[in-house]
Amino acid sequence: MKIKILTTVLAFCLFSISFSQEKSISLFNGKDLKNWLSPVVPSVFTIEDNAIVSQGKSGALFFNGKDKQFQNFVLSCDIKTQPEAIAEIIFHTDLSKGQEIPKGYSIRIQNTYKGANSGENIKLTGSIDRIRNVYFPFIKDQQWFNLKISVLDKEIKVFLNNIQVASYTEPSNPWRPEDLKNRLLSSGTVGIRNIQGKVSIKNIQLIPQKNELVAQTSIDREYDKKITQLHAANFPLIDFHVHLKGGLTLEDAVIISQNKGINYGIAANCGLRFPVTNNGELNAYMNSIENAAIYRGMQAEGREWMTLFSPDTAARFDYIFTDAMTWTNNKGFRMRLWIKEETEVGDPNMFMDELVSKIEQILKEPIDIYVNPTFIPEEIAARYNELWTTERMDRVINALVKNDVALEINARYKIPGIEFIKKAKQAGVKFSFGTNNLGKDDLNYDYCFEVLDEVGLTASDMWMPRKQGTKKIQKL
Ligand SMILES: [Zn+2]
Repeated sequence: MKIKILTTVLAFCLFSISFSQEKSISLFNGKDLKNWLSPVVPSVFTIEDNAIVSQGKSGALFFNGKDKQFQNFVLSCDIKTQPEAIAEIIFHTDLSKGQEIPKGYSIRIQNTYKGANSGENIKLTGSIDRIRNVYFPFIKDQQWFNLKISVLDKEIKVFLNNIQVASYTEPSNPWRPEDLKNRLLSSGTVGIRNIQGKVSIKNIQLIPQKNELVAQTSIDREYDKKITQLHAANFPLIDFHVHLKGGLTLEDAVIISQNKGINYGIAANCGLRFPVTNNGELNAYMNSIENAAIYRGMQAEGREWMTLFSPDTAARFDYIFTDAMTWTNNKGFRMRLWIKEETEVGDPNMFMDELVSKIEQILKEPIDIYVNPTFIPEEIAARYNELWTTERMDRVINALVKNDVALEINARYKIPGIEFIKKAKQAGVKFSFGTNNLGKDDLNYDYCFEVLDEVGLTASDMWMPRKQGTKKIQKL
């Protein structure tokens, strides 16, 4: 039933942009580079099978036709990448002499997923480069895909195979770092910048659009600055712990994600008496969200989850996480720590020691992230700082390091505390952001930003999903 609902929701997500083909301008004739100019000679661009092919070295190529002052348009092209290739489509640019950062905006082309510690090469196809990056893998190498870039007034939208993966509305006088001070909307020509590897581009069409003001929701300039600063630093801004709960649909979640400038990982609750309980349901669920512009997370529920799903099936998810909120105490009482009636604290110190032992056990499971971390029941929540002693914090942090498990900074519960996060950072633990939202109104990141400021987390402190074939669940 749930899966049916998801499929219906997805039908709305697969919206495509309609435009009149008559007005379309073909920027590339499929035969030669007439009307294109490469400031660097000899050019790295050639023609192969009706496509512009950039290969090997870095270089740039600009459309240099008679009319090249494009302002509002939809640009459409078909692209194929070879593994490790990276390129950019640039717009509102000029015939810059091969400079590193040209005028205008760049849309990133990179389909090889590199994972953690790959620096700026974590960003993938569809990124409005360093303004609103895309991190979730969506397109594969060695397959033709369609890219559309829509620029209307102050709004940029990026579509891959007609699915919107990124959007950005430029506020007036937006914040930009010194090296991106010309990354602004204006007007200009279109360019291709090759960074490395082989990329083929064909069917390059530009459809001018009427200069219409886009109805803009009021832009919070301060929020835009905060988010843009992080993207400009290639900080992977991702909420890996979003649930479709409380009426939040997949379509809503994708829109909220793009409006907030934060990539989302939608997590399904998988386990005994949860929505997904076996391989068949798990496969059906994964198929139903195949074309969504998100990461896919598995929330493993209950300690028997590994017996319910085969490693191969679980590995279809981008990552797996769990918490330590559901367990049976030494008196045989099964507890769900967030429900008062189902929780038995007794002596708080004894409870804490048992909780820490449970966490140590749970972190040995083949999981990627420990979520809702250090959560303690409401009855003792006010004593959080006193009960999370240095010794208890150290035990959990040691277990995270030993088992290579990342630590969620939970936005809704505002946990772990700053002290815990500082100690974990010092020990080399990687972090993720997560809300574990109850609906659509509590997707709020104030605590994550507070931690960023206080602890000074950088891109290299953040966890990223492992590459396919290297996941923990695939190494059992
Ligand atoms: Zn959750």
